[in-house]
Amino acid sequence: MPVPSSSNSPVPAAPQAPAAQGAAKLTPPQKALRQLGLTRDIDLALHLPLRYEDETRLVAIRSARDGEVVQIEATVVKSEVVMRPRRQLLVMVEDATGECELRFFSFYPSHQKTLSVGTRLRIRGEIKGGFWGRQMMHPTFRLAGGELPQALTPVYPTTAALPQAYLRRAVQTGLTRAEQRGALSETLPLALRQSLPECWPLAQALQFLHHPSPDVSIATLEDRSHPAWQRLKVEELLAQQLSQLQAKRERALLKAPVLKPATLVGQLLAVLPFNLTAAQQRVSEEIAQDLARAVPMHRLLQGDVGSGKTVVAALAAAICMDAGWQCALMAPTEILAEQHFSKLVGWLAPLLAPLGRQVAWLAGAQKKKERLAALALIESGEAALVIGTHAVIQEQVKFKNLGLALIDEQHRFGVAQRLALRAKLVDGSGREPHLLMMTATPIPRTLAMSYFADLDVSTIDELPPGRTPIVTKLISDSRRDQVIARMAEQLAQGRQVYWVCPLIEESEALDLSNATQTHADLTEALPGVLIGLLHSRMASAEKKEVMAAFTAGVMGVLVSTTVIEVGVDVPNASLMVIEHAERFGLSQLHQLRGRVGRGAAASACVLLYATGDSGRLGETARERLKAMAETHDGFEIARRDLDIRGPGEFLGARQSGAQMLRFADLAEDAALLEWAQWAAPRLLDSAPDLAQQHLTRWLGGKSEYLKA
Ligand code: ADP
Ligand code: MG
Repeated sequence: MPVPSSSNSPVPAAPQAPAAQGAAKLTPPQKALRQLGLTRDIDLALHLPLRYEDETRLVAIRSARDGEVVQIEATVVKSEVVMRPRRQLLVMVEDATGECELRFFSFYPSHQKTLSVGTRLRIRGEIKGGFWGRQMMHPTFRLAGGELPQALTPVYPTTAALPQAYLRRAVQTGLTRAEQRGALSETLPLALRQSLPECWPLAQALQFLHHPSPDVSIATLEDRSHPAWQRLKVEELLAQQLSQLQAKRERALLKAPVLKPATLVGQLLAVLPFNLTAAQQRVSEEIAQDLARAVPMHRLLQGDVGSGKTVVAALAAAICMDAGWQCALMAPTEILAEQHFSKLVGWLAPLLAPLGRQVAWLAGAQKKKERLAALALIESGEAALVIGTHAVIQEQVKFKNLGLALIDEQHRFGVAQRLALRAKLVDGSGREPHLLMMTATPIPRTLAMSYFADLDVSTIDELPPGRTPIVTKLISDSRRDQVIARMAEQLAQGRQVYWVCPLIEESEALDLSNATQTHADLTEALPGVLIGLLHSRMASAEKKEVMAAFTAGVMGVLVSTTVIEVGVDVPNASLMVIEHAERFGLSQLHQLRGRVGRGAAASACVLLYATGDSGRLGETARERLKAMAETHDGFEIARRDLDIRGPGEFLGARQSGAQMLRFADLAEDAALLEWAQWAAPRLLDSAPDLAQQHLTRWLGGKSEYLKA
């Protein structure tokens, strides 16, 4: 779209115009605008102030209170550079009511010139001191005169390369132009607006937020409870709901195989060494209903660590295989995939064999011959179930008839893997397999309602019976010896122990040396106990061997880097020691803790923390460890994690596809979120073109649907 720009205009050139000419010709502020994503008028209009400065009034020096940020008008009566205690410029100014000293530690000759005796200035800064002398450090100042602004002055989030004054003009231009071109026009029909307590028109809300009148309560702007803010949040949340609803409806037009259970499901239930919990039965039923429909399932199965998701996945796989279709199960690490493989082979292989079908294994580290054999089985359809790492979705893998894809620990997969999965599912046949994603990091309700609104969610909300709660202890690293003594007790009772070494993100080598050292120390401290070492640099055959020895119970202690974080299941392990627990994220700690407490034995988790040189834990580290000690409920942990770290961590790869919320806050704005969820289908049904307009405004016309 060509943008008229007049050369004598005081505003910066239209941001789109240079963008179209390529990066080479951009000035630094223009480049900075692009880096901030401020390319369209609407983007600028939606770039909202961080805070405001009140330059609408002048305060008499005498009535300014200590600590108050004020604007004064005063004349310079003295200006000198002093050297003690360090070089500084001291300027005394006075108005009709009193004097104030201005102090500058950094200044240029040009400043000195403006601040020369006799000049009348408009000065803004924080006043310190009272009766005995008032002072301002590094105030802003300019020559007095000119009218006072009518509205509060916006201060925008910016970067060093983008001066505030330039950005202000750019935003103002963008806002004006967006409004003139109808980009801010009303997209909410009256009925929807009336269903909100107070709904300002968008254009009015934006004008207000950029230039609030000075009598507004600053608090309502800061805590974003002002109706103008509410409108922006409503807009944003609605856009998010609309895009996901649209994605969901598009998916509903696709065809999927109808998968109905036959004999295999019952046979599997019969060989399981336990009965399903009520929650497992319920979610299995939800999944079975989806599979029986000719529309692809897109479901997230969430359940706390140890709640028994694997067997639910196995039952879904059985339904799929019963119907004569292939099923794929993908896990984020080889250890976890391997464990699923041996478990599911144990349950299913004997049942599949009489049918001439089997379970195939695919992983990156596989020997070529094995791999080719597996690929052949998959292509011929003889492999009814394929289990592996993301090797499962690589291009060479050709399924004969994939009916169901199961993704374990979905949040651990990256963007590239999601896209590959996407490519595997949509093969151009116009038919799509069902998709079941699993996660042990339960998604707090508000997140599920917002970022995951395009998914159906099943929740396992109870643990299998007979588990004893895990006792969690925070212990300083200086009491390591006591922990080792406790370990020896557990080992003497035939129990097993995990010892997890810290994650040092910057250096894999350090991770390793730490784990190796701990392994050596424990070997010395616990003679006669077989102690294994597991880390990500090991060859996969070696890893497999160590894991097998631990699973079989031959190995008493497993020292490991975080490779065991997800999914590993050894019910006899009853003690988990996490070294440098202060370095782990909350969900990660919870996952690690979930490796124990899987059998009937009482289990414990020791969070060993080191305070470092400061002798104290950082605030968020303390908060995390405290949360761990206080609760075992994965949902509560997830909620606190959301508070501590924001939604980014939960979204994983989803983040790239999901429009991140900029204005709404899931914790604060749950009510608006509910409204948006209610309003989206109504808008899409009653006024599809308005809905489209709304989406374009917020998503820039890109169809940012969350497809995988
Ligand atoms: P997660 O949900 O963390 O993936 P798993 O599927 O690994 O949990 O199950 C944890 C453990 O609980 C496994 O040893 C599994 O065999 C066992 N388990 C699962 N369901 C039940 C049940 N209904 N009764 C008893 N044990 C169960
Ligand atoms: Mg699992």
